[in-house]
This record gives sequence, structure tokens and C-alpha cells, in this order.
Amino acid sequence: MSILVIGSVALDTIETPFGKRKDILGGSATYFSYSASFFTGVNLVAVIGDDFPKKHIGLLKSRGINLDGLKVIKNGKTFRWSGSYKYDMNEATTHSTDLNVFETFNPQIPERYKNSEYVLLANIDPDLQLNVLSQVKKPKLIAADSMNLWINTKKPSLMKLLKKIDIFIINEGEARLFTKQPSLIKAGRMILGYGPKHVVVKKGEHGCLLFSKNGFFSAPAYPIEDIFDPTGAGDTFAGGFIGYLAKLNKTHTEHDLRKAIVYGSVMASFNVESFSLERLKKLTDKEIQARYKQFKEFTHIK
Ligand code: AMP
Repeated sequence: MSILVIGSVALDTIETPFGKRKDILGGSATYFSYSASFFTGVNLVAVIGDDFPKKHIGLLKSRGINLDGLKVIKNGKTFRWSGSYKYDMNEATTHSTDLNVFETFNPQIPERYKNSEYVLLANIDPDLQLNVLSQVKKPKLIAADSMNLWINTKKPSLMKLLKKIDIFIINEGEARLFTKQPSLIKAGRMILGYGPKHVVVKKGEHGCLLFSKNGFFSAPAYPIEDIFDPTGAGDTFAGGFIGYLAKLNKTHTEHDLRKAIVYGSVMASFNVESFSLERLKKLTDKEIQARYKQFKEFTHIK
């Protein structure tokens, strides 16, 4: 089974209380793809400029991620994002977003991606997410992520998208911004009313909430003492979450969704331990399973 993913492949400049890095590998699709590749095959759709370091391409290839849909623009400049975090690392402050090659990107989905059964529309302009969706044939499951920039600037496109997807993943601040609701429970239910079958509201170090038409689940985050850089935690979560569902490759039950949420949380917990994909690069399947087991023990009541 494999997942088609569209989103940003980026060079990030990040400052946390523990350090600063310039032009490091980032992007919603990068984190998602790398994380999902521990569970299933990934077909990536994105665009970069020819300033994008070749070693990053090698890294994605080393996980078997299919890059036929990664367009390289000659003399183009790769998408860049710059942000920082204070001691409360749940909220990033964006300093700049330079769409660069994404500004004129018109994704052409490679023929062999069109029958993808799982689709993840990682955070990017909702018009690009809709464009990609219109090119795939009959996916079994479509999930999407978004952020405050698109809620503020492209709400009508986002509302259109929500009618076409199964799972919407969003963080708590964005859920409140989207619905103008201080209560996350009300916000989650309201977003369900916009169309998706399930809504996941991520709460950073406080875990996440899953809303379904007939169900509700609340999971804590895996307790990590040293959060170094939270960038990409949401996308890494989504990679584990949707990656696990794609690996199951069946009509998912509420129970499957709960397990998938825990796999997503486990993947995110590794990602925050260092900048960029540094921790994920060293990650093994054995470590994922060990943390999943621990997570169950930490949250179990007899
Ligand atoms: P997360 O921390 O999971 O929300 O995602 C962080 C990643 O999202 C960073 O690596 C950025 O490159 C990327 N990103 C930030 N802003 C945008 C945007 N407007 N569109 C697409 N990707 C973005």
C-alpha cells in the first residue's frame, strides 16, 4: 500500500530556546513522508528549486520515498519558512513564509500515482490540495492538514476541501481560529459539521482529541523531558497516524483510529528530540514498537 502526499518541501530557519539553525531541511510533506515511510510506501508530490541540497533528496530516497512527483525548477528558489518558539513550545511564531516555487506550482500527478488509495494533503495552499485531489481516481481515505495562514487567507477553499475529505487534522489554536470557539470540544464538533468524517485536534505536549460522528477519544502525548525543536511534530504525527492506517489497508474501525493516533504520537515524540529530521534519521522500527508499548502502559487503567 502507498500514500500519495502533497505538501511543502522546505528550507527552514528556526530558533528555539536551545539553539538556532538556518536553511535546514523541513516542510510539511518532508516530515509527513519520512514518518509514514516507517509504515508504508510514499509517493511525494511537491516542488523545489535547484538551490535544494542534493543530500536531502538522497535522504528521502534512502527511505524508499518515491520522488517521481517532486518537480525541480531550474533557477527556482525553494519554499522557505522561518519561525521561532519561546519556552512554551506549543505555538510557533512565524517570521516569514516565502512560497517561492510554490507560487506558480501546477502539480501534475504522475500516472502511476493516480490510483493511490490513501491521500494525505499536508499543509499547503488549499487550492493546491484541491488541485491534487481532482487528479486522483478513487482513494479509500483522504486526510488533510492546514494552518492559520490558510484559515486567514483562503477560508472558502478550505471549506470546499473539508467537504471532500475523510480526516481533518488541525492544531488547537487553529481550531479555535477557524471556528471562533474557545471550547475545543465545540470547535471539534463544529469542524465535523463542515464535512469530514473525523477531526483530529492536536494539542502539542498535551496530546490530541479525535472527534468522529459517533465517537470521541482523547490521547495524551508521550511524555518527553527534553523537547528540543517541535517543528514538524504535527506532520510527523500525521505520518504515523495515516501511515499506520494505510498499512492496515482495511475499512478502519474506531479502534484502528485510536491505535493510529498512538502511533502518530509516538512518531512525533521522536521528532521533537532534535532539529529537522536528525532524530528520525536514526530511528529504528524496534524503537517505535518499544515506545508504543510504553505509551500503552503509561495510559492504561485496569
Ligand atoms: P508543523 O510544525 O508540523 O506545523 O510543520 C512545520 C513545517 O511546516 C515546517 O517545516 C515548514 O517548512 C512548513 N510550513 C510552515 N508554513 C507553511 C505554509 N504556509 N505552507 C506549507 N508549509 C509550511
